[in-house]
Amino acid sequence: TTDLTGRVALVTGGARGLGAAYARILHDAGASVVVADVLIEQGHALVAELGERARFEELDVTDESAWRRVVSRTIAELGGVDVLVNNAGIANAAPIEHLTLAKWEAVMAVNATGTFLGCRAVVPAMKAAGRGSIVNISSVEGKRGSPHLHGYTASKFAVLGLTKSLAVELGPAGIRVNSVHPGFVHTDMTTRIDPERLDIPLGRPGLPQDVAGAVLFLASDASSWVSGAEIVVDGGMIA
Ligand code: NAD
Repeated sequence: TTDLTGRVALVTGGARGLGAAYARILHDAGASVVVADVLIEQGHALVAELGERARFEELDVTDESAWRRVVSRTIAELGGVDVLVNNAGIANAAPIEHLTLAKWEAVMAVNATGTFLGCRAVVPAMKAAGRGSIVNISSVEGKRGSPHLHGYTASKFAVLGLTKSLAVELGPAGIRVNSVHPGFVHTDMTTRIDPERLDIPLGRPGLPQDVAGAVLFLASDASSWVSGAEIVVDGGMIA
């Protein structure tokens, strides 16, 4: 079943784009949803629209103490964390000669370190509950190489590797850890990419809701024997 009634889900980068679609589908499935983001206004607007089972937390995923605060408040007020979707991410595309150290470090900090900090922050509560589902958002660029995306690709492969190791380590504790690899989806991140140049067998770029079903599946008991899996949602682009 994909019913999440009584479950608590936390979605990072949940204020807009793909993260907002994840927050929405988990909420529609019955979960209480914490939208965690650095975008305060958009986050508040989304939870107001979702209604009473939604709340906003200001969270910079690279900030270790902010993670402690958000997770402990979620546990205190909602009773636990059953689902974590590590979705916050940035891209910083540039030819290698123009990829500054600061840009490289920023991408690694948000995409890779932020995902690590999120996983680490929720594991104690999930272990205590004897169950949990962590969904790490990688990318098709976490499975192949692409020009100008060096830091992004490295960070998304890191997300995949982290996911695999955690799936093995945490399985015995009842915690499942999987990755989702979206292809080209229209969001603020991809406004400068021309989808006409991409060869997408299903014939169109994605919408955020096209990816959300995979996240719902992995978050819910419908995937109770799925861990360490990589789900590519890309219209067939890298098949
Ligand atoms: P987006 O820029 O619209 O959304 C990213 C969200 O993450 C924003 O709400 C932003 O405020 C938040 N964020 C950024 N840095 C943060 C930080 N330090 N702490 C907390 N929140 C932070 O982009 P999107 O396309 O919705 O991307 C969401 C995720 O999906 C990213 O991890 C991205 O790499 C991944 N992805 C996107 C695509 C695509 O085609 N759009 C494809 C594959 C993977």
